[in-house]
Amino acid sequence: MAVRHDLEIKPMLGQMMQLPLLISSLIVHAERHHGDQLVVSRRVEGDIHRISYREVAERARRVANAMQALGVQPGERAATLAWNTHRHMELYYGVSGSGRVLHTVNPRLHPDQIVYIVNHAEDRVMFFDMTFWPLIQAVAGLTRTVRHWVAMTDRAHMPPVEQAAKVPNLLCCEELLARTHDRYAWPVLDENAASSLCYTSGTTGNPKGVVYSHRSTVLHTMAAALPDCLGCSATDAILPVVPMFHVNSWGIVYLAPMTGAKLVLPGPCLDGKSLYELLESERVTISAGVPTVWQALLAHVEANGLTFTTMRRSGIGGSACPPAMIRKFRDTYDVHVIHAWGMTEMSPIGTVAAFKEQHSRLNDGGRLAVMSTQGRAVYGVDMKIVGEDGAELPWDGQASGDLMVRGPWILETYFMGEGGDPLAIDADRNGWFPTGDVAKITPEGYMVITDRSKDVIKSGGEWIGSIDLENIAMAHPAVAMAACVATPHPKWGERPLLVVVKKQGMEVSREELLALYEGKIAKWWTPDDVVFADTIPMGATGKMQKNKLREQFQGHRVQA
Ligand code: AMP
Repeated sequence: MAVRHDLEIKPMLGQMMQLPLLISSLIVHAERHHGDQLVVSRRVEGDIHRISYREVAERARRVANAMQALGVQPGERAATLAWNTHRHMELYYGVSGSGRVLHTVNPRLHPDQIVYIVNHAEDRVMFFDMTFWPLIQAVAGLTRTVRHWVAMTDRAHMPPVEQAAKVPNLLCCEELLARTHDRYAWPVLDENAASSLCYTSGTTGNPKGVVYSHRSTVLHTMAAALPDCLGCSATDAILPVVPMFHVNSWGIVYLAPMTGAKLVLPGPCLDGKSLYELLESERVTISAGVPTVWQALLAHVEANGLTFTTMRRSGIGGSACPPAMIRKFRDTYDVHVIHAWGMTEMSPIGTVAAFKEQHSRLNDGGRLAVMSTQGRAVYGVDMKIVGEDGAELPWDGQASGDLMVRGPWILETYFMGEGGDPLAIDADRNGWFPTGDVAKITPEGYMVITDRSKDVIKSGGEWIGSIDLENIAMAHPAVAMAACVATPHPKWGERPLLVVVKKQGMEVSREELLALYEGKIAKWWTPDDVVFADTIPMGATGKMQKNKLREQFQGHRVQA
């Protein structure tokens, strides 16, 4: 244990009930106190499906009994390859609540990585949506520990018999649940028991597993619901676009039953048109997702002259949200962007760009500047920036260094000890998790990410913040996407190159883009050149793969 305990102090003990913080308590609460509230899903079969929390709880108990029937022992892993739907949610509660560990596999990973992850986690059973049937056929023969493959559908939508024969022990989820009982007493587990497992989508090396506990999950959920975080209540309808296979949909599938909010799940249809239809038809008030998804949604809304009639808040994170997007949501659509930062290792929420009282006196520009930071720490997370020598740097909005975090929902070690002991221990023997992000912190406590440490551009020994440069380019109406990467330079070591994808049917020149930087940044930060590309490679969790761009443009020479 890296954390310091004052064992020599023997305090008087409090006399309150010793009830552990368990994931099952969330669905028990929703069933008893919000039993009629709805979970609406766009299912893989194509229908819009409605179910109440009461029914979700009942089906989750069937899942728990099914774990027993399939021989999955407490502590063993049950995997999913699935979209955001009620069936996936029932697994969240039935698997974790019964003491098994839910391993949500990201289907956007390369099949070789999926095989690696499933074998590494020693998954005993795999639940999958039929969208992934081709993938299942490709990987089933290569996994070593999966005993049952469960298609999350009914008999009518199962694969044809000749294909089904290729995957051993193929089961139909609806038949499996129908065969099991809906009576089940949730066990009183140790709150530190493992509840779920996510692998990081590392750009180098094999993915590493992050094991959440019941305690860390419940605490994180409480923080996520707070007014200065997602601010969710029983009067809201919340739609997580962020997938349930990406850090547990940022906790929203736990947060909705905790708060009694209506939960709207978009299934496999994440295009602008489908999302817009669901946001409107289900009267969604809060949503959450990565910037690229909102870009597609905004493009659809703009192109069709639409408005958001009920959505008032949108949580955006996973990568930096360009200020231009925050402004567009606010000024054109009256939607408040909740810009947040976090990572898989942090469950994921770390900071949120929520206002403080003094910001009410700022003008629109000043408020936009606050909203564009990565935000201030939510209670439960502490952060600091350190220099190369490990010494803490001041919160002056100028000094930038390696960002370190600590808190009860932040990873201590990776699954099976991969990567050794990741924590950095400071002089007070406190353990801090090095995030790999480079940041500065303002005197008011707002953190601004300038780069991932591996994406940093170092010119003449000084850092250039690529995110700032990208945000400036993204403010141009013809720019769909912008990435700034380092290219080797004989004198300066590295210099910034701007890679731009233009919006369809729109034009912008190299000179126009470079002119955007005048007066906005130190002159030597200005990119040396601009290249136009058809696409920017994106990773499995919606982040730009700058390592690929760097490789691609390694030999790039500045235009004469
Ligand atoms: P993941 O573990 O896949 O969620 O990735 C976590 C990383 O995403 C962080 O360490 C950051 O580099 C990046 N990230 C997440 N949110 C933001 C944000 N709001 N602004 C900038 N980078 C972000």
